[in-house]
Amino acid sequence: MHIVVTGAAGFVGSHMCDRLLAEGHSVLALDNLLTGKRRNLAHLAAEPRFQFIEQDITKPFSVEGPVDAVMNMASPASPKDYLEYPIETLEVGSFGTRHMLELARIKGARFLLSSTSECYGDPAVHPQVETYWGNVNPVGPRSCYDESKRFAEALTMAFHRKFGLATNIARIFNTYGPRMKLDDGRVVPAFVDQALRGEPMTIFGDGSQTRSFCYVDDLVDGMYRLLLSDERYPVNLGNPCEMTILEFAEHIRRMTGSRSPLVFQPLPEDDPKIRRPDISRARALLGWEPRVSLEEGLDRTLAYFQTDADAAV
Ligand code: NAD
Ligand code: UDP
Repeated sequence: MHIVVTGAAGFVGSHMCDRLLAEGHSVLALDNLLTGKRRNLAHLAAEPRFQFIEQDITKPFSVEGPVDAVMNMASPASPKDYLEYPIETLEVGSFGTRHMLELARIKGARFLLSSTSECYGDPAVHPQVETYWGNVNPVGPRSCYDESKRFAEALTMAFHRKFGLATNIARIFNTYGPRMKLDDGRVVPAFVDQALRGEPMTIFGDGSQTRSFCYVDDLVDGMYRLLLSDERYPVNLGNPCEMTILEFAEHIRRMTGSRSPLVFQPLPEDDPKIRRPDISRARALLGWEPRVSLEEGLDRTLAYFQTDADAAV
């Protein structure tokens, strides 16, 4: 297939490009480099089936030639990034998604949206099932991301209903791995960086909030299977292995042999207190479940941060 990937220079997008090329597809990669890096795609420079175009998808543009699928992954994703770029985040979820849906419609291509567990907000249902409508503060600091993604989901369903577009919606839960930026503020690179430097590890709140961490290869596999499926409603993709942030900090400290002290800082506003995906639908519909253990995934991530420190900043 000829596949357009937006947000291709980002953490997940670059791994998706690798997977699509490995499956034999050709990839047109679009990114405006707002939060991504050219370096994440540098290893693909000599690949004849790969092309990168620096493009802001909120601006109108056209693509020459056939397109069979559009994977729309462009958006700031780290709380630090979307708090710094709230307008851009809302624009990429709305105008950007609209442009990519139009592209898919014109080309007769399928379309996959990278959505998020943030659609559930600070959830009152646990674990989160796709039928739960969520508990999102529409005017809080995180609303630029949450509402942008909720709008993008609604727009995707509207294109499916109105034009019969073959669409998929992946609700992605916390994912980690090589090519995350050490300074992007998300908890995995933050703790790893602090532990490796022997600096205090910053626990927000009392650390009792929970998250469930998925290794990037598992996520990419789930997204690829979803793209090939006929499922039109959202599907959770994530690792149901849940732990408190305090437990996670201890885990990183043990793995790195670090003596970093733990310091407690205020919990950011609207930070979800619990999060764990119910992946029954992904199991049943896609035959998918995560395979990489937290130990193995963190080993690979640590190796990247240790050997490729330049690439990580
Ligand atoms: P990332 O910031 O590393 O990648 C996002 C990419 O989108 C960046 O390369 C950025 O430059 C690009 N981008 C932003 N605005 C753009 C625009 N207007 N035009 C073109 N490109 C633009 O983040 P990531 O973690 O790789 O996330 C990728 C996707 O997955 C996002 O849509 C995100 O919302 C979703 N997601 C990720 C996670 C996770 O844990 N990593 C969780 C839930 C959802
Ligand atoms: N967190 C933390 N210390 C940090 C960064 C994050 O305690 O230095 C917490 C954050 O408050 C949240 C969890 O770790 O409860 C996951 O944060 P992240 O930014 O990775 O993603 P989120 O799930 O909030 O989108």
